[in-house]
Amino acid sequence: MESNMTKEELRALIENKLSRHYGISIDEADRAQMYKSCARTILELLSEKRTKFNQKIKESQAKKVYYLCMEFLVGRSLKNNLYNLGLEDVFRNVLKQWNFDLEDLYNEEPDPGLGNGGLGRLASCFMDSLATLEYPATGYSICYEYGLFKQKIVDGWQMELPDIWLPGGHVWLNQRNDLVCHVRFNGHVEENWTDEGLQIKHLNYDEIEAVPYDLMISGLDSEGVAILRLWRARDLNNFDMSSFASGDYDRAMTEKMNAEVICKVLYPSDNHFEGKTLRLKQQYFLVSATVQDIIAEHLQQYETLDNFSEKVAIHINDTHPALCIPELMRILVDDYHYSWQRAYQLVKKTVSYTNHTVLSEALEKWPEDLIKGQLPRIYGIMKGLNESYCQELWKRYPGDWEKIERMSIISHGQVRMANLCVIGSSHVNGVSKLHSEIIQKHIFSDYYRLDTKKFISVTNGIAHRRWLCQSNPLLSQLLDDCIGPDYKKDASQLGKFRNFYENKEVLSRLQAIKQANKIRFSNQLQQNGIVIDPQSIFVVQAKRLHEYKRQLLNVLKIISLYLDLKDEPNLSLPPQTFLFAAKAAPGYYSAKEVIRLIWNLSNEIEKDATIREKIRVVFLENYDVTMAEGLLPAADVSEQISLAGKEASGTGNMKMMINGALTIGTMDGANVEIYEAVGKENIFIFGMTAEEVENKWKEGYAASSYYHNNEKIHRVVEYLRHGFNGESFESIYRYLLVGDYGIGDPYMCLADFESYLDVYKELLEAYHAPFRWSQKALINIAGAERFAADRSIQEYTNKIWNIPTLV
Ligand SMILES: *Cc1c(COP(=O)(O)O)cnc(C)c1O
Repeated sequence: MESNMTKEELRALIENKLSRHYGISIDEADRAQMYKSCARTILELLSEKRTKFNQKIKESQAKKVYYLCMEFLVGRSLKNNLYNLGLEDVFRNVLKQWNFDLEDLYNEEPDPGLGNGGLGRLASCFMDSLATLEYPATGYSICYEYGLFKQKIVDGWQMELPDIWLPGGHVWLNQRNDLVCHVRFNGHVEENWTDEGLQIKHLNYDEIEAVPYDLMISGLDSEGVAILRLWRARDLNNFDMSSFASGDYDRAMTEKMNAEVICKVLYPSDNHFEGKTLRLKQQYFLVSATVQDIIAEHLQQYETLDNFSEKVAIHINDTHPALCIPELMRILVDDYHYSWQRAYQLVKKTVSYTNHTVLSEALEKWPEDLIKGQLPRIYGIMKGLNESYCQELWKRYPGDWEKIERMSIISHGQVRMANLCVIGSSHVNGVSKLHSEIIQKHIFSDYYRLDTKKFISVTNGIAHRRWLCQSNPLLSQLLDDCIGPDYKKDASQLGKFRNFYENKEVLSRLQAIKQANKIRFSNQLQQNGIVIDPQSIFVVQAKRLHEYKRQLLNVLKIISLYLDLKDEPNLSLPPQTFLFAAKAAPGYYSAKEVIRLIWNLSNEIEKDATIREKIRVVFLENYDVTMAEGLLPAADVSEQISLAGKEASGTGNMKMMINGALTIGTMDGANVEIYEAVGKENIFIFGMTAEEVENKWKEGYAASSYYHNNEKIHRVVEYLRHGFNGESFESIYRYLLVGDYGIGDPYMCLADFESYLDVYKELLEAYHAPFRWSQKALINIAGAERFAADRSIQEYTNKIWNIPTLV
């Protein structure tokens, strides 16, 4: 990862930016100006690299990947690009001579929160891999003016503040005025039969401009640069000139649609369907601009769309960009006069879809009338797709109305986006082995029986360059020393670390590295007035707050330990720090109640000098990628405790594993594969399996039976009513025992509680043997080889996109 840029060359480049943009010299520059000048220097280098890469792609006529997602949780760019370009050292040295600390400049950059959590972060990890592996790839999303809210906890209650990222983040965006396109909403459709066949006219529509902003992502030690193209909505200059001229300014201003509101803000709910008109507009805005852009790029190179599916792979990450299917149909049929059948064949060959959830409240179902009103032509196309698909089904399953109804796109006044995706895609994949099995067996079982080969599994992965090499430089150095640096581009090399299983020196270095990372993170917290003991065990649960992720189960465990300590203050327990980090969707009341519980439990414990020596609870405000980069390398224990069958994959589990944390978790999502990778000695598994959960529902679940038959559970649950820090948690008590249907909480916390406590005890005992613990950590780091996003991307290119592996 050596770069041959000299200090002198770099100095000149930065000086040039300072002079050009601010008219100042080095000694006049402040930190913000220096940060931006460094960013602009990187951009210049990336642009040159990109130009060369584009040339190469063009000559090879390679198939291109277009990855559509409503969210990209990109994280900061400066460090990532410096690292991947091999320029960190020369920058650090030059800046030091000018009395700037590179770490300070990293902290000048806002963390763009253009995503909610795992879904958006996955999309960003994939961009990193696509760049490093030198595939021609463009990600498409929306340039939200405000990203995910900033979280503030006031007296235990979550407050949301706007995320104003553009002032500092803008420097990475390159506005492409040459690629502006138009998107149409509303109006009505007229159909006329002419000599050339059916002519479709969309009349009285509202039209807005889509302006692309490009963000470049460099690969490591490669010629590849990926582009993330973010669309911004802009009012067309089409306001009513006659009203304006006649002095009716109000009318002139309000007649037009307020376009800018479309990309104002990211919807902050994770794994939950939000049926708002504006959200639908965001989705269509993204796919319409994107499909137009892809087609224009393709035509520029090939001058025909006949070979479209051979040269283009369009991937939709979850159903949010599903409208790209009818949008592509629309352009092929209306604008390029392809026959319906031919257009449908092209679409089906081009588009592929990843399912991300089986939670019923997350499945997108739009009211038919809403789509009809907002997107009349798209609605007509979806009706056409639905009709021809149902006719096909009728031939295959004559008389089976129920099945045909289940499999249709439109039914009972609703448009079912997951069905549209399956019907319009070449491949459908789940994101872990277990999740893929579940979608085949449940939500997509009819389609699976009809076309088994369409369904495959690609387990998620992480950008190990960001989550290991950059965020844990000490561990990265140890790996360099032990197995050489090749794992940075070939994660399967990490497996070689197993050879050091008996090496005492390596194991003790591993221990020292974890300790150093814990101290580093504790010091970071101390700057915000939070004091934790880096000698204690760091038990981390960091992810969106959601009932299915069961942060509450973790809290119940802590309450149980707390009550044990109250009974017996001299109980021999190793000191433990329970770190929670989680944003709740602003309207998700029960999730916010869990935050309030954690906060008050934490405060109550803080007041007791003897107990806080043993256990301490900390709620970390505003979890984002930057916080994760500091926190996850410091974790000893990774809590992955969702109800089996609910977490599609998880990637936080992989990030902590690769940093040497041990998992305590259920057999859910990718935990199952982590278990396979490390073996039962090196992970702490508890609770029901997905199958056992299913059986439990069939046989009848009643939370109260656990409450009545288990003294420990009884006491812990009772204590919720008694409360913490003077606050009662009656609503959580009722949630656990009664729930919405009188049988208790739908995520079965109490059913898994006992085995969770038992296994946690085993974990504490294991921590008493530091040498053995280090060995387990080593096996986890080595076992993470298969959870690199590079491996996921190679599976997508081979099995879904049909792009030959590049060498
Ligand atoms: C990785 C990551 C997530 C996803 O975490 P899970 O435990 O897989 O839900 C969410 N948010 C951020 C900031 C992340 O980095």
